[in-house]
Amino acid sequence: MTATSRAEELTGRLAAVHRRIDAALLEAGRTDRPRLIVVTKYFPVADLRILAELGVADLGENRDQEASAKAQELADLGLRWHFIGQLQSNKARSVARYAHAVHSVDRASLVKALGKGVAAERETNPEGRALDCFIQVDLSGADGATEGVSGHQRGGAAPEKVNTLGHLIEGTDGLSLAGVMAVAPLGREPRAAFEQLATISALLRTEFPAATGISAGMSGDLEAAVAVGATHLRIGSQVLGERPPLG
Ligand SMILES: *Cc1c(COP(=O)(O)O)cnc(C)c1O
Repeated sequence: MTATSRAEELTGRLAAVHRRIDAALLEAGRTDRPRLIVVTKYFPVADLRILAELGVADLGENRDQEASAKAQELADLGLRWHFIGQLQSNKARSVARYAHAVHSVDRASLVKALGKGVAAERETNPEGRALDCFIQVDLSGADGATEGVSGHQRGGAAPEKVNTLGHLIEGTDGLSLAGVMAVAPLGREPRAAFEQLATISALLRTEFPAATGISAGMSGDLEAAVAVGATHLRIGSQVLGERPPLG
């Protein structure tokens, strides 16, 4: 495909996503627009450049090695990088270098590692901003509805651990509690899962009123996420097409 036709394709696909968001907002009676994070994992930098030219400012990536290389290559574009994948603590230092937000904070050891990463980063860049942290919640439930389904290992803290993690994040220099995040589990109605996430968010906000973020909604279920008040949508395949195989 030529660069021009790829640009045309992405223009059309992005417009279609915005039309879906518009319709979902209308249906939900909302006037506030969620932030669209385009998930560019596995796609080449050339596509990311096209998206930036189309006005996309927020990109989502789920592997540190790939994300840090892309962020470095596109450093001049002022993009915001959202880390959305399961994160090993030993990658926290690297992620702190380029990420605007981490959507997959799900355990105390990772909070600690991210805090250290930001602190180390500030030694070279004292003006650095705080890193936004979304607590990823595992919505698969105690009933084991999705137990044994392959692909279920997507991380996430148990719902009852969320406020404790919130305290840890808010008590860590350089980290800012942004809100909650979830992926609708396989085998569960996305609307019901996201309603549970909204309830968890409300409970978190009783202690941390500024933690208003709800990161939910992918290509297949963005309407359900908009209906429950999602503030951040993470959309990949509907904008970019089917992901190339991991290479
Ligand atoms: C890949 C991914 C997305 C985007 O999924 P699509 O179905 O391609 O829109 C969103 N969130 C997370 C956590 C992902 O890993």
